[in-house]
Amino acid sequence: MAAWDATRERSLKAGSNNKGDVLYWMARDQRAADNWALLRAAALAKENGSKARVVFALGTITTERRLDFQLKGLVETGRDLNAKGFAFDLIEVADDAGAAVAAFATAHEVSHVVCDFSPLREAKQGTKDLVDALPDNIGASLVDAHNVVPVWAASPKQEVGARTLRKKITDQLPRYLKELPELEAQGPPLQPTVDWRPVIKAARQKTDRSVTPVDWLTPGSKASLDALEAFCGDGRLKRFAKHRNDPNVEAASHLSPYLNFGQLSCQRAALRVREERSKHSESVASFLEEQIVRRELSDNFCHYQPHYDSLAGAAPWARDSLELHANDTREHVYGRDALEQAEAAEDVWNAAQRQLVRQGKMHGFMRTSVWKATGADGTRRKTLMSTQAHVLGEEDSRVDGVAGRGAGDGAVPERQVLVGWVRPERLRGLRLERHGHARHGLEGARGLRQGPLHELQRVQAQVRRRGLRGRLAEGAAEVHGRLRAAGEEAEEVSVCAPPLPEVYACKTET
Ligand SMILES: Cc1cc2nc3c(=O)[nH]c(=O)nc-3n(C[C@H](O)[C@H](O)[C@H](O)COP(=O)(O)OP(=O)(O)OC[C@H]3O[C@@H](n4cnc5c(N)ncnc54)[C@H](O)[C@@H]3O)c2cc1C
Repeated sequence: MAAWDATRERSLKAGSNNKGDVLYWMARDQRAADNWALLRAAALAKENGSKARVVFALGTITTERRLDFQLKGLVETGRDLNAKGFAFDLIEVADDAGAAVAAFATAHEVSHVVCDFSPLREAKQGTKDLVDALPDNIGASLVDAHNVVPVWAASPKQEVGARTLRKKITDQLPRYLKELPELEAQGPPLQPTVDWRPVIKAARQKTDRSVTPVDWLTPGSKASLDALEAFCGDGRLKRFAKHRNDPNVEAASHLSPYLNFGQLSCQRAALRVREERSKHSESVASFLEEQIVRRELSDNFCHYQPHYDSLAGAAPWARDSLELHANDTREHVYGRDALEQAEAAEDVWNAAQRQLVRQGKMHGFMRTSVWKATGADGTRRKTLMSTQAHVLGEEDSRVDGVAGRGAGDGAVPERQVLVGWVRPERLRGLRLERHGHARHGLEGARGLRQGPLHELQRVQAQVRRRGLRGRLAEGAAEVHGRLRAAGEEAEEVSVCAPPLPEVYACKTET
């Protein structure tokens, strides 16, 4: 069992009052169990002989889909807290959350406010506003309750990519990746402290109702644990290492909505999956790489890079290349409507777009491709952002956006089928990949038809390492020629697997 590790917390402000309750301002981590910020607030209160209480500052929720998922989760969290004797309050705010929480803290004469950490600008501004508005006698601190290794403990600076962050994180896992303590009851159960009906009614008046709730995912912490169990037990974890990058195979955990709304603790998910390591060692390692290293790389990027959501935050090589190729002739130029309505000439784009609109979540590998295909200029990025309105449960489309991805990938050799040193035309690569002929002469196409998407990544890494530029282009032409001669390009392809029925069923395009 993990004892409290003081490096999870950063002091924001000292206070002189050590008598009042301790307030936890719940924001990113919207759950009662496995929550280090709440555990810290409860421990501080116990030291004082007082109580911990929780407040949530509810801002505008953009769509009915998010409202349904987030508020149902919060209703459950409030109930869980009340059952253990914690008061749970909700305050409705505009863009003044920090000041509103400070006013709440002052009115309730608390001794200390614990905040949970988010690397995003608005959250940091909220914390600053809180500290500025708190009276002298109330202290405040920040706890990273989201990451397994707290972002500031993982690294003191912006990392170049996963390859530089990986060791820093994995070396610290024995210290941080331990069983979490259970939240102890601090008194008899309380009556519900929030009247949800008017809250939901008021919130619904501001949402876009055309983006409807999804029915494939049940919101809330309890459902998140069920989803975690299902992932471990129904074969997806077993397939994860080999098929996580194949959108046609069910291997993804679908945990991201829960993780991003903080209904599930990243540490809990990692601990549970790690229990399966004797059965599926490769897949467990692969999942922990994605769910700890890659995810925490996003936090590292946003925390240390002030321009995380604009090209100003991208690596210089990426900006240079985008500028250099800004006026290149493109095979297709789309308006916003065509992209939003999934009417592009590119089946893969359309499939990804439809999946996002219908299911609220896009397969991780498609995400890589679509971001890269749209990342180059502001207009195209805005178009993609607008499609993000459909996204369920991602903290922010910027958390792991274009700039961060560019930096994380590192420069790649320029090659014939792509434009520039970044990979804006990745969709083209993907279309080829599905038919097994994107390995471009590095190895024979035939032997590589198993797990082609995964294979492409391996080959790309090889290309990056060895700088095999010329050979790549030559190989591509040659493999194309052979396939054309064999008539393979005209083939009708249906690559669907439940539960992504028609979404990824595409016709081969040449
Ligand atoms: C280009 C790109 C952009 C992304 N943008 C966002 C974003 O804006 N917001 C967001 O929350 N997630 C983003 N991701 C991460 C991830 O793809 C999505 O969260 C995805 O939908 C996760 O679905 P899942 O839980 O089924 O994934 P799984 O494949 O089951 O992965 C398990 C968990 O690992 C983490 N993870 C997996 N892949 C990545 C990755 N490449 N980078 C970081 N973490 C990862 C996520 O927490 C995920 O829930 C992005 C990934 C890529 C490659």
